Amino acid sequence: MAGKVYIIGAGPGNYKLLTLKAAEAIKQSDVIVYDRLIDSNVLGFAHDGAEFVYVGKQPQHHQVPQKEINKILLKYANEGRTVARVKGGDPFLFGRGGEECEYLHKNGIEFEVVPGITSAIAVPAYAGIPVTHREHASSLHIITGHHSVENKISGDGEDKPLCDFETLAKQEGTLVFLMGVKNIGEICSGLMKFGKEPRTPVAVVEKGTRPGQRVVNGTLSDIAEKCVHYRVKSPAVIVAGQVAELGESLGWYSKGVLSGNRIVVTRPAEHSDTLVKGLEAHGAHVTEFPVIKITEVQENEQFHTALNRLDSYSWLIFTSANGVEIFFRRLNQLKTDIRRLYGIKLAVVGSATEKALNSKGLYPDYIPEKYTSKELLSGLIERIEGRDKILLIDSELSRPELTRGFKDNGIAYDEIAVYTAETSNLGSRLDYLVPELEKADIITFASPSAVKAFVTILGKEKIRELPAHMVCIGPVTAGAAAEEGITVTAVAEQYNSEGIINKIIELSENRRLNTQQ
Ligand code: SAH
Repeated sequence: MAGKVYIIGAGPGNYKLLTLKAAEAIKQSDVIVYDRLIDSNVLGFAHDGAEFVYVGKQPQHHQVPQKEINKILLKYANEGRTVARVKGGDPFLFGRGGEECEYLHKNGIEFEVVPGITSAIAVPAYAGIPVTHREHASSLHIITGHHSVENKISGDGEDKPLCDFETLAKQEGTLVFLMGVKNIGEICSGLMKFGKEPRTPVAVVEKGTRPGQRVVNGTLSDIAEKCVHYRVKSPAVIVAGQVAELGESLGWYSKGVLSGNRIVVTRPAEHSDTLVKGLEAHGAHVTEFPVIKITEVQENEQFHTALNRLDSYSWLIFTSANGVEIFFRRLNQLKTDIRRLYGIKLAVVGSATEKALNSKGLYPDYIPEKYTSKELLSGLIERIEGRDKILLIDSELSRPELTRGFKDNGIAYDEIAVYTAETSNLGSRLDYLVPELEKADIITFASPSAVKAFVTILGKEKIRELPAHMVCIGPVTAGAAAEEGITVTAVAEQYNSEGIINKIIELSENRRLNTQQ
């Protein structure tokens, strides 16, 4: 049976402006056919096995022709796969979504349209410009500011006006031009030629909703010149009309200390959520790079035995949030009442691990001040009594420092590795992730295994070419990076997400100072 195609609008760029429906459709799809300028975090919603097909414009190349794109959609659907056709903004507004639907319909392929937030309205909104306003504009006109190829080749081609300026000049409503930056001079003079007041306010919003959003204000008579002066580039939306002026006082988009910074977070599953949210809260553009896949150790006899004998332990130690999650999930699966933990002391390393434990209603008896195994060990030695036995929940990749320390100090323990971390197989996902790495200002690492996986995926040579600053969560991770020949710019002083964020802020402030000098 043929698969279904979702024609999806991904919004104007910032992935948080994706609809729930779009995220759900992407998650369900096996093949993701995407355009240029789609935020990589949007594509990150796809499931692990999804295949990615880029059909946007290549540098120095033309767009994949529409006919080709249609065929690609048909081919995958005919293979019985669910296809997500992901487009910027709304798929039916200058997005050729209509043509794709017609083609699929003709070929008997089921499709569903997921409308998106269009840049024509959202980009002005991010610049504080309401496209209609009772006092200033009661209609909105959205116009393409781009010569279609058909126009150019139809004989008189180049001389043909971009659009019907005579009609447009008469409108009292707001005129929004998409794809118009290159032709802004022609647009403004066309409107003025047919009587539009030269003092009409115009705002050009570049990279709206994205890192580096910029607004240039002017009037019909001077905006073209200003755009040249400020080197405004596509993508940008041109808003002409009285409302354009409102943005000068209603511009609300506040830039955090990290705005304009592109940061890649190599994801070792834990830490990443608080890290990503924290960086975004400071205005950074964050791309998650999932280098590691966490999998629970299956048929773990030793684990079951330990859970059946919980009363033989006096300390339970977790070294990661993953360990906490898996431990309690298994307890629950075995219908083991949490009261069986009564009397057992708890120790954790790291604030993410502590938080995970707190979410189970438990508060650790001991957390070392510095989040290292060494600190944990010396703290435990002080607290442990002769007959105490430790249950250590960790991963197959855990370093042996802690258990070696237990042995050397004659401390009884059982170590249960409950998960393993494998290097992700990113396949065609790399097609959109590598360009993000190349553009990144900063790449973060929160564990030695993240460093290793990063090297396995990219190779040392590629990493050496990356211009980004490398920031590590602590000295152990930095050591692992140095071992791989990666030059580390900075190491957090607090070994957690907050520490990384503070370090990055410090780094970006220094960079700003350096460029000002
Ligand atoms: N279907 C899309 C429009 C596609 S045409 C939508 O509904 O938004 C592409 C044009 O959209 C660009 O040339 C630019 O004019 C505008 N555009 C898209 N994203 C933009 C952004 N983040 N900032 C400014 N303009 C944007």
